[in-house]
Amino acid sequence: MRVAETFRSLQGEGPSAGAPATFVRLQGCSVGCRWCDTRYTWDPGHGRDVPLPALLDELDSLGPRDLLVITGGEPLQNRGFEELLEAACEAWPRIEVETAGVGAPPATHPCLHWNWSPKLPSVTPLWEETWAHAPAWMADPRTIAKIVVGEGDEAEAARLARTLPRDRVYLMPEGVTEEAVKRRALTLAEVCKREGWRMSPRLHIWLWGARRGV
Ligand code: SF4
Repeated sequence: MRVAETFRSLQGEGPSAGAPATFVRLQGCSVGCRWCDTRYTWDPGHGRDVPLPALLDELDSLGPRDLLVITGGEPLQNRGFEELLEAACEAWPRIEVETAGVGAPPATHPCLHWNWSPKLPSVTPLWEETWAHAPAWMADPRTIAKIVVGEGDEAEAARLARTLPRDRVYLMPEGVTEEAVKRRALTLAEVCKREGWRMSPRLHIWLWGARRGV
């Protein structure tokens, strides 16, 4: 499968923010978000080709088997994703997959947690595709919806988030600098307080800024 990078860090976003985690970032994404901070993953031919057994060994070499985060790119568009998922569910106590949800969830497992991140209309012309399978995503009780919200998108985010179970909605401020994230977080905090949603931090931006491999 084609892999952009592997690394050990802290989960920066979503329900496990702050937890130590091993990351594998898969190559390939056609969603085209205007604020994407991992554009180097878009081309499915870039990155490196790694056979599954070697990838599993590499992930083991990075640290303990605690939390494995499979991210991208868009994992659902990577040809080796389902095979990786199957193997990971046998070996890791908790797996979180970061996905825009451009298809229905391909698997369910007690160890598998989907961090589904559907897009807002201002972000990509393909935004509706990321919402098309919303009922299927939310049918899995281990799925949370993490909506990234940029400047001026609060009303649209609220309109769409109200269609989801309230206790599984996270709003996350868009931004690649600490200052931008904080400014948007302050606005989102008011929305979250009003609507009963959670707010996701972006710990990696706060700690390390917009860098690869963190
Ligand atoms: S889905 Fe993720 S990787 Fe793909 S363009 Fe959007 S932010 Fe970037």
